[in-house]
Amino acid sequence: MSKYEVLERYFGHDTFRPGQETLIDGILAGRDALGIMPTGGGKSLCYQIPALLLPGVTLVISPLISLMKDQVAALNGVGIPAAFLNSSLDEEAFRTVCRQIRQGMHKLVYVAPERLFQEHFLNMMGRLTIPLVAVDEAHCISQWGQDFRPSYLKITEFVDQLPQRPVVAAFTATATKAVQGDIRQRLALRDPVKVVTGFDRPNLYFGVYRPEQKRSLLLSLVEERRGKSGIIYCSTRARVESVCDQLCRRGFPATRYHAGLAEEERRQNQDDFQFDRKPVMVATNAFGMGIDKSNVSYVIHYNMPKSLEAYYQEAGRAGRDGEPAECLLLFGPGDVETARYFIQNGGENEELTEEERAQVQAQDTRRLEKMVGYCRTTGCLRAYLLAYFGQEHPDRCGNCGNCRSQVLQTDITRQAQMILSCVKRIRDKLGYYVGSGLLLGVLRGSKAQRVLDLGLDSLSTYGLLKDTGESTVRRYLEVLREKNYLYAETEHNTLRLTPQAGEVLFRGERVTMTVVRALDPAPGSAAGKGAGGPVDSALMEALKATRLRLARLEGVPVYVIFSNATLADMARRQPRSRAEFLAISGVGERKAEKYAAAFLETLRQGAEEEE
Ligand code: ADP
Ligand code: MG
Repeated sequence: MSKYEVLERYFGHDTFRPGQETLIDGILAGRDALGIMPTGGGKSLCYQIPALLLPGVTLVISPLISLMKDQVAALNGVGIPAAFLNSSLDEEAFRTVCRQIRQGMHKLVYVAPERLFQEHFLNMMGRLTIPLVAVDEAHCISQWGQDFRPSYLKITEFVDQLPQRPVVAAFTATATKAVQGDIRQRLALRDPVKVVTGFDRPNLYFGVYRPEQKRSLLLSLVEERRGKSGIIYCSTRARVESVCDQLCRRGFPATRYHAGLAEEERRQNQDDFQFDRKPVMVATNAFGMGIDKSNVSYVIHYNMPKSLEAYYQEAGRAGRDGEPAECLLLFGPGDVETARYFIQNGGENEELTEEERAQVQAQDTRRLEKMVGYCRTTGCLRAYLLAYFGQEHPDRCGNCGNCRSQVLQTDITRQAQMILSCVKRIRDKLGYYVGSGLLLGVLRGSKAQRVLDLGLDSLSTYGLLKDTGESTVRRYLEVLREKNYLYAETEHNTLRLTPQAGEVLFRGERVTMTVVRALDPAPGSAAGKGAGGPVDSALMEALKATRLRLARLEGVPVYVIFSNATLADMARRQPRSRAEFLAISGVGERKAEKYAAAFLETLRQGAEEEE
């Protein structure tokens, strides 16, 4: 089989992405390799394809259990025998996998670096043919990168103990020179083929907000993205807790992740997220490295991270499937203080000497300054990022908050009239003003006991804004207060009309609101590109439903079945036969065999409904 056949037959892609072929050819020719590609760039294929073509079993060193689990599920899903060895397996499963490995059943085996020096493992490896050791997330070897993992330093020692030195291939998305140098040196790479592909992720929209009130902005951002999967990063555990609580109370399917939770709960929450049972994740930066979820459509930073490396890596978890996605950062002056604090007190890495620690701090401070610069720049955000990573770029990208105006004036006169008249009617009926909670309930047609007891459901303004999200109505109330149509009386905690409200109610005064919103990608902009052409959204939903059904049946995350990009391609090209189905990007033989019938049926029904 050739590498092209493997690409097509197993993975269902018809062309290699930039850099993939060079790395694969190098590895197949017996050379070490260093692949530096952005998140979502397709690093996995660079070692998975050689693994299939080389004799014996390829060892993949990967830092996190969740990461291994997903990768192995995805490989098995396309018919490639692969397994992982880690502490999540019980004794029996562990023995079974070991036996399979000895029998040569697997082409790839994923392990954590801590495993390498366990005697039993070493013995087993010594007796196998290992043509290739692939080191994923190789920046973990560098103390200059994030996520330094001391056990990565032992990989070379392990490799040296094997009877035959395998090819060593390292992969990371972290680009800086210092980290690259560390990887080369500490893995003792021998004259590696090196590929550094561009860092641009054209499908990502970048935006920075400087809100007065982060919380209410966040709520409306999440509200506008209901039904989509997103990650919200916060700088502290306490903030994660409170943001997550608030989202849950507002009925968003959110879960949380931080280092203060018990491992069991972390795993559960991560699973809920991966499987889209709870598609919104609120987390500290402890969440992430293992996240291969490809359908994350937004990443919101509630706080500014401490470096652009961290930011780009975290934000880059959006849109891995190549579909348009958003990376939004909510910047507040307090973030700078918090980041400084972390830099000064974050020396938890005990392996560093005093001098090294001082160096790290100085470097972190320089990084922080660049990060703040990103939040404050009025120039193109993408250009700023690419310049930081040392890549050439145009001055303007047309697909970031600064290239596209993010401030809109919306006329909300009608809504203002509804709200003000509701305040008036409640007051007329009860003889007193009420607080914002009750007002909100009446406007949104709440069936709460208090509303019914007071007979407020009989008002003509009851339920006028029932189709508007709660956070949006709250923002209207804020605007009406700011503009002095409503007055918050503190003693009884009520909202009252001001004399000026009459201007809106009776004399036609217009009310406008400034909305900050990530706009749809500009037509023709990079983000709109996708695989070209609009997608019938009803059909897309039907395809997603079929995917979800199959995923539940198999107990795997939806994107293990097909990515959103693959479904979009299906919706556009509407294959009618198995052969046509195979031509869809992301459909290989195994998946065609397993899923063609179900998806073709969905497409057929979709077509009938059209007629
Ligand atoms: P990385 O590890 O670099 O972050 P992955 O290896 O997880 O990225 O790949 C990201 C996505 O890109 C996956 O959904 C994968 O199917 C897709 N992909 C990889 N190579 C290709 C290719 N040659 N053509 C189309 N899609 C690809
Ligand atoms: Mg990867």
